[in-house]
Amino acid sequence: MEARYPVLRLRSGREYTAVMGHPWLFSGAFADLPQDLPAGSIADVVSNRGDWIARGYVNPKNSLAFRVATLDANEDLDAAFYLRRIERAQRLRALLPATVNAYRLVNAEADFLPGLIADRFDRWLVAQFHTAGVERHREHIIEALRQVPGIEGILTRDDLRVREREGLNVGGPSVAFGSVPERIEIQEYGVRFLVDPWGGQKTGFFLDQRDKRAVIGEVARGARTLLNCYSYSGGFSLAALARNPDLHTVNVDSSEPALELARANYVLNGHDPDAHVFHTGDVSRYLPAVGDSDTRYDVVVVDPPAFAKNLKMKERAMRGYESLNIHAARAVSPGGLLLTCSCSGAVTLEEFEGVVRQALQRTRRVAQVIANFGPSLDHPTLPDFPEDRYLKALLLRLL
Ligand code: SAH
Repeated sequence: MEARYPVLRLRSGREYTAVMGHPWLFSGAFADLPQDLPAGSIADVVSNRGDWIARGYVNPKNSLAFRVATLDANEDLDAAFYLRRIERAQRLRALLPATVNAYRLVNAEADFLPGLIADRFDRWLVAQFHTAGVERHREHIIEALRQVPGIEGILTRDDLRVREREGLNVGGPSVAFGSVPERIEIQEYGVRFLVDPWGGQKTGFFLDQRDKRAVIGEVARGARTLLNCYSYSGGFSLAALARNPDLHTVNVDSSEPALELARANYVLNGHDPDAHVFHTGDVSRYLPAVGDSDTRYDVVVVDPPAFAKNLKMKERAMRGYESLNIHAARAVSPGGLLLTCSCSGAVTLEEFEGVVRQALQRTRRVAQVIANFGPSLDHPTLPDFPEDRYLKALLLRLL
């Protein structure tokens, strides 16, 4: 085979994870990692014996030094490659029903475009370039994203701390193609949401909770009250109200702009925001006060931000989850439902289940597990890439 890209040789026995399908290789796995390779350039990885393993992006400045883009030695990482990858990603999302017009179109490593996130909101895309690899090939990627049918504008958001580790600048949003409005209206199973692609959290909406919102919409049909902790723009409440317009909802979030958007979303869906509660504040203060009061809720949702972004923060995060779930359980009425979520990559499903179990024992609530959620259609993961399985959620009935 003609070597067209720099060839990086691994240390003996270190090809195993990549062969099994793990998309990352750390600097310690390489026998030699030339420091003069530009960050984000394309390279081939071979085993110590010289067998071809993978092609991808190298960043010698980062300990996470290599990300796999293809396991096919004949696949070139040229403009056509990005077109093929994005088309393939689109075919998976085409399985979503027509009542959903916002979804993650490209989920980075799991769509074999490591470092690239692209979320579709109706006719617009919001893209995030997390790594030097995709940054270096930004033009090809934007060109390929433009070809997605029905796209009128692409916004890129580089306001990501992770870019620093890759030696990239952290900047504001900018239009890469067409034009992008201040607010985009999306539909999720008939529920309408306003999304702020320019300043909203993440790319503007928490698409990864769509399936959980739909389930809450189903199971909250007979409920009288719902407490939505970490509500952001009102997602879980509005999904429940769509089936149960008489439900009384309480939304708690520390972000004032998030709750302003939530109120606007209530209006958009024909619900009077003044008949509901929007509380700006810290859930870790609000929830214990509920437990101490006489108020109980038929449905409680807790969907906090990641408590453990890395392994170092894990122990504290576990205590945080325990305390949060104790207070959440106390707020649930007898026979009511609790949806508890964790988006901490460093906490495994088993660990999360363990900490929820502990919290239930502490509150002496008998529980039934009704559902257990992992990734969804537009957030695929790879079988041999556990680091990517950040999102877990348990739906419980508390007797
Ligand atoms: N459930 C939401 C997504 C929640 S994201 C949905 O379906 O769209 C997490 C939210 O927690 C963010 O809106 C963030 O503003 C909020 N948040 C972060 N820390 C918080 C805290 N200590 N108390 C209350 N809200 C907090």
